[in-house]
Amino acid sequence: MIGVDHKYLIYIASVITVYSGIDIILTPVWFSEKQDFLIDVTPIKWPLGVSFIICGVLLVYRERKKSKRKVKPLFYTICPNCKETYFYNKLKEGMCPSCDVKTVDMDKYYNSN
Ligand SMILES: [Zn+2]
Repeated sequence: MIGVDHKYLIYIASVITVYSGIDIILTPVWFSEKQDFLIDVTPIKWPLGVSFIICGVLLVYRERKKSKRKVKPLFYTICPNCKETYFYNKLKEGMCPSCDVKTVDMDKYYNSN
């Protein structure tokens, strides 16, 4: 699976998981003729099926949240007091280490001055 975006693998996995959940609810009995083997989950088909569906939905939900976070990267900030620039992720909650003032987005700073 080289070259396939990790995101699509998550979506495929979640579709399979949700589909399995629906399948459990609709056909809770599996029978393997070769091994003469029977699985019957009828008494627990709802909790089992629903938890599969929830797992599948959560997979997509988590992935979406992650990609949303990536959309807005904040790289450079500037301290309005000492005019020093910083890498945002090197700062503790965006505070200037020498003035203890909240730094601002560099683009916003230059646009408003
Ligand atoms: Zn400063």
